[in-house]
Amino acid sequence: MGVTRGNPILADLPMTVFDEMSGLAREHRAINLGQGFPDGPGPRPVLEKAAQAILTGNNQYPPMRGLPELRQAVARHYNARQGLDLTAEEITVTSGATEALAATILSLVQAGDEVVLVQPLYDAYAPMIRLAGGVPRFVTLKAPHWRIERADLEAAFTPRTRVLVMNNPVNPTGRVLDEAEVALLAEFCVRFDAVAICDEVWEQVVFDGARHRPLIGLPGMRERAVKIGSAGKMFGLTGWKVGWMCAAPALTAVLARAHQFLTFTTAPNLQTACAFGLDNPGDWFEAMPAGYARSRDRLTGLLQQEGFHVLPSAGTYFLSVDLAASGINLPDREFCLRAVREAGVAAIPVSAFFEEQAETSIVRLCFAKSDEVLDEGARRLSKMRG
Ligand code: PMP
Ligand code: GLN
Repeated sequence: MGVTRGNPILADLPMTVFDEMSGLAREHRAINLGQGFPDGPGPRPVLEKAAQAILTGNNQYPPMRGLPELRQAVARHYNARQGLDLTAEEITVTSGATEALAATILSLVQAGDEVVLVQPLYDAYAPMIRLAGGVPRFVTLKAPHWRIERADLEAAFTPRTRVLVMNNPVNPTGRVLDEAEVALLAEFCVRFDAVAICDEVWEQVVFDGARHRPLIGLPGMRERAVKIGSAGKMFGLTGWKVGWMCAAPALTAVLARAHQFLTFTTAPNLQTACAFGLDNPGDWFEAMPAGYARSRDRLTGLLQQEGFHVLPSAGTYFLSVDLAASGINLPDREFCLRAVREAGVAAIPVSAFFEEQAETSIVRLCFAKSDEVLDEGARRLSKMRG
């Protein structure tokens, strides 16, 4: 029946793989190396500030665009760490990066507009674009390098392109785009007069001295980019769902129109705590990625000892295993379903990050876990080698 089936754009979609795999992990009491969340508590002073703000602060609607102190803290953070020149007026606080993506897509994409997307891609992008009436055009990258090349963009951009959605550092591949790739994206946006939606939620989770290059900082991009960030990733508090979108005033005014009817605001006490964390980071932004780099190396070493072929990871909470190169002839999804049931480890099939021409031999593992969990996870995964 049409009424219960709902909008076919949504009704025909699978449920998100992250929730599916976490559900299976709970059901099978498995170690969850699937959905990306750390098992550490996060920075204590930020948690204390949130608790204090709930008890003694404002618990009523904050301003629609966010608390001034958080908007100022976000601008200061980016200006100091990424060499940008953002003002507080250019920041809109959202309920996670997910809401920022929705607000940006709904307000910038109109029926028939072409939107360029780079696969593998985060699962929220394409459905939201289709809901807005946009037409996705996919650039499909190849493992193991996952590099964006000029020829890919030449084939995807057309005179009908209005928007590019890009993600850097990249979930699920763990890549940090290099200077040439970021410059290429900027060149095409300027040439085709397109707006760039820049999902940069992993910007603080980069390893080995790699540098995050914000697309909005490139020549020609300041007025045509929306930079999206997430306190969930910055502070390892993924359940908080505090995010933000940064854009020049004219774009910000458009984005706010969508934000006001999506969520209107975000929990004020969590905003207070995030502002405090950005203004008083101590060594968090150095210690946090250094800790995850050690966890990445630990899990990589353990998996390699078991004969798994691990692809490099320069950022995010994720590394991936190439099944075929590890001598495992199972499609990624089947591997993950068997791993959670038979070995007691949840992972994410990378094919879930494709809309077409899916790569089906790679699985993603989250290493943002304690040593004991990683050790046990790797030990259990070795069962999958038969
Ligand atoms: N974009 C990417 C690339 C992500 O990996 C995630 C979550 N891991 C999000 C957006 C969503 O962020 P949030 O939880 O702040 O909504
Ligand atoms: N972004 C997280 C991941 O990639 C999960 C987000 C979600 O569960 N929707 O694992």
